[in-house]
Amino acid sequence: MLKFYNYDIVFQEIPDEVTLAVNITHCPHRCPHCHSPFLWEDTGELFNEENARLILKDYRDAITCLSIMGGDNDPKEVNRMAAWLKETYGLKTGWYSGNTELASDIELKNFDYIKIGPYIEKLGGLKQKTTNQKLYKILPDGKKEDITFRFWKT
Ligand code: SF4
Repeated sequence: MLKFYNYDIVFQEIPDEVTLAVNITHCPHRCPHCHSPFLWEDTGELFNEENARLILKDYRDAITCLSIMGGDNDPKEVNRMAAWLKETYGLKTGWYSGNTELASDIELKNFDYIKIGPYIEKLGGLKQKTTNQKLYKILPDGKKEDITFRFWKT
Protein backbone atom coordinates (compact mmCIF):
# COMPACT_ATOMS: atom_id res chain seq x y z
CA MET A 1 0.00 0.00 0.00
CA LEU A 2 1.27 3.45 -0.92
CA LYS A 3 0.10 6.71 0.64
CA PHE A 4 1.06 10.21 -0.44
CA TYR A 5 1.69 13.37 1.56
CA ASN A 6 1.43 15.85 -1.32
CA TYR A 7 2.43 16.40 -4.94
CA ASP A 8 3.86 19.22 -7.05
CA ILE A 9 5.20 20.01 -10.48
CA VAL A 10 9.00 20.04 -10.43
CA PHE A 11 11.59 20.77 -13.11
CA GLN A 12 14.90 19.60 -11.65
CA GLU A 13 14.29 16.07 -10.33
CA ILE A 14 14.23 14.50 -13.83
CA PRO A 15 16.31 16.23 -16.56
CA ASP A 16 14.36 17.47 -19.60
CA GLU A 17 10.97 16.53 -18.11
CA VAL A 18 8.14 18.46 -16.52
CA THR A 19 7.46 16.11 -13.66
CA LEU A 20 4.61 15.69 -11.26
CA ALA A 21 6.39 14.48 -8.13
CA VAL A 22 4.16 12.52 -5.75
CA ASN A 23 5.70 12.32 -2.27
CA ILE A 24 5.06 8.93 -0.68
CA THR A 25 4.97 8.51 3.11
CA HIS A 26 6.04 5.66 5.45
CA CYS A 27 9.66 5.85 4.27
CA PRO A 28 11.55 2.98 5.97
CA HIS A 29 15.04 4.45 5.63
CA ARG A 30 15.33 7.07 8.39
CA CYS A 31 18.42 8.61 6.75
CA PRO A 32 20.28 10.90 9.20
CA HIS A 33 19.75 14.56 8.16
CA CYS A 34 16.77 13.55 6.02
CA HIS A 35 15.38 16.56 4.14
CA SER A 36 11.78 15.35 4.61
CA PRO A 37 11.29 13.60 7.98
CA PHE A 38 7.55 14.27 7.66
CA LEU A 39 7.58 11.42 5.11
CA TRP A 40 8.56 8.87 7.77
CA GLU A 41 5.07 8.56 9.24
CA ASP A 42 2.40 6.19 7.90
CA THR A 43 0.00 8.99 6.96
CA GLY A 44 -1.67 10.49 3.91
CA GLU A 45 -4.11 9.49 1.21
CA LEU A 46 -3.88 6.22 -0.70
CA PHE A 47 -1.89 6.47 -3.93
CA ASN A 48 -4.11 4.25 -6.01
CA GLU A 49 -5.89 4.48 -9.36
CA GLU A 50 -8.82 6.46 -7.97
CA ASN A 51 -6.70 9.19 -6.40
CA ALA A 52 -4.21 9.26 -9.27
CA ARG A 53 -7.14 9.93 -11.61
CA LEU A 54 -8.25 12.85 -9.46
CA ILE A 55 -4.73 14.30 -9.42
CA LEU A 56 -4.16 13.84 -13.14
CA LYS A 57 -7.49 15.42 -14.04
CA ASP A 58 -5.84 18.78 -13.36
CA TYR A 59 -2.23 17.99 -14.25
CA ARG A 60 -2.08 15.52 -17.16
CA ASP A 61 -1.78 18.15 -19.89
CA ALA A 62 0.88 20.12 -18.01
CA ILE A 63 3.37 17.31 -17.43
CA THR A 64 5.52 14.83 -19.35
CA CYS A 65 6.38 12.55 -16.46
CA LEU A 66 5.05 11.37 -13.11
CA SER A 67 7.62 10.39 -10.53
CA ILE A 68 6.83 8.36 -7.43
CA MET A 69 9.08 9.86 -4.75
CA GLY A 70 9.59 7.07 -2.23
CA GLY A 71 7.63 3.87 -1.76
CA ASP A 72 10.38 1.54 -0.57
CA ASN A 73 7.83 0.18 1.91
CA ASP A 74 6.01 -1.43 -1.04
CA PRO A 75 8.04 -1.66 -4.30
CA LYS A 76 5.55 -4.13 -5.74
CA GLU A 77 2.85 -1.48 -5.57
CA VAL A 78 5.24 1.14 -7.04
CA ASN A 79 5.79 -1.21 -9.97
CA ARG A 80 2.05 -1.85 -10.38
CA MET A 81 1.11 1.83 -10.28
CA ALA A 82 3.88 2.77 -12.73
CA ALA A 83 2.58 0.16 -15.18
CA TRP A 84 -0.96 1.48 -14.78
CA LEU A 85 0.11 5.13 -15.25
CA LYS A 86 2.03 4.26 -18.40
CA GLU A 87 -0.76 2.21 -19.89
CA THR A 88 -3.62 4.52 -18.91
CA TYR A 89 -2.07 7.94 -19.52
CA GLY A 90 0.94 7.26 -21.74
CA LEU A 91 3.06 9.06 -19.19
CA LYS A 92 6.75 8.68 -18.65
CA THR A 93 7.27 7.33 -15.16
CA GLY A 94 10.00 7.78 -12.59
CA TRP A 95 10.79 6.35 -9.20
CA TYR A 96 12.99 7.83 -6.47
CA SER A 97 14.09 4.95 -4.23
CA GLY A 98 16.29 5.25 -1.16
CA ASN A 99 17.50 1.68 -1.54
CA THR A 100 21.08 0.97 -2.61
CA GLU A 101 19.99 -1.81 -4.94
CA LEU A 102 16.94 -1.95 -7.19
CA ALA A 103 14.11 -3.90 -5.56
CA SER A 104 13.41 -7.29 -7.16
CA ASP A 105 9.71 -6.42 -7.67
CA ILE A 106 10.57 -3.65 -10.12
CA GLU A 107 10.17 -4.31 -13.85
CA LEU A 108 12.25 -1.79 -15.78
CA LYS A 109 9.77 -1.76 -18.69
CA ASN A 110 7.38 0.18 -16.46
CA PHE A 111 9.80 3.04 -15.86
CA ASP A 112 11.68 5.71 -17.78
CA TYR A 113 13.80 6.93 -14.87
CA ILE A 114 14.89 5.37 -11.60
CA LYS A 115 16.95 6.99 -8.87
CA ILE A 116 18.54 4.80 -6.23
CA GLY A 117 20.57 5.46 -3.11
CA PRO A 118 19.88 6.77 0.39
CA TYR A 119 20.77 10.33 1.34
CA ILE A 120 24.19 10.46 2.98
CA GLU A 121 24.94 14.00 4.08
CA LYS A 122 28.73 13.84 3.75
CA LEU A 123 28.41 12.61 0.15
CA GLY A 124 25.62 14.98 -0.81
CA GLY A 125 22.59 14.65 -3.07
CA LEU A 126 22.41 14.24 -6.82
CA LYS A 127 23.81 17.72 -7.48
CA GLN A 128 27.11 16.87 -5.78
CA LYS A 129 29.78 15.01 -7.76
CA THR A 130 30.62 13.06 -4.59
CA THR A 131 27.10 11.64 -4.30
CA ASN A 132 26.36 7.95 -3.77
CA GLN A 133 22.96 8.41 -5.45
CA LYS A 134 22.40 7.61 -9.12
CA LEU A 135 19.69 8.55 -11.59
CA TYR A 136 19.23 6.06 -14.40
CA LYS A 137 17.38 6.56 -17.65
CA ILE A 138 15.78 3.30 -18.78
CA LEU A 139 16.51 2.77 -22.46
CA PRO A 140 14.15 1.04 -24.93
CA ASP A 141 16.30 -2.11 -24.84
CA GLY A 142 15.88 -2.29 -21.05
CA LYS A 143 19.41 -1.18 -20.24
CA LYS A 144 20.03 1.48 -17.61
CA GLU A 145 22.00 4.61 -18.57
CA ASP A 146 23.51 6.51 -15.65
CA ILE A 147 22.57 10.17 -16.21
CA THR A 148 23.54 11.45 -12.76
CA PHE A 149 26.08 13.77 -14.42
CA ARG A 150 23.17 15.81 -15.82
CA PHE A 151 22.73 17.31 -12.36
CA TRP A 152 26.31 18.57 -12.18
CA LYS A 153 27.28 22.04 -13.22
CA THR A 154 30.44 22.04 -15.33
S1 SF4 B 1 15.00 8.01 1.70
FE1 SF4 B 1 14.56 10.25 1.54
S2 SF4 B 1 12.66 10.58 2.74
FE2 SF4 B 1 13.49 8.57 3.32
S3 SF4 B 1 14.72 8.99 5.16
FE3 SF4 B 1 16.11 9.04 3.38
S4 SF4 B 1 16.19 11.20 2.76
FE4 SF4 B 1 14.39 10.95 4.11
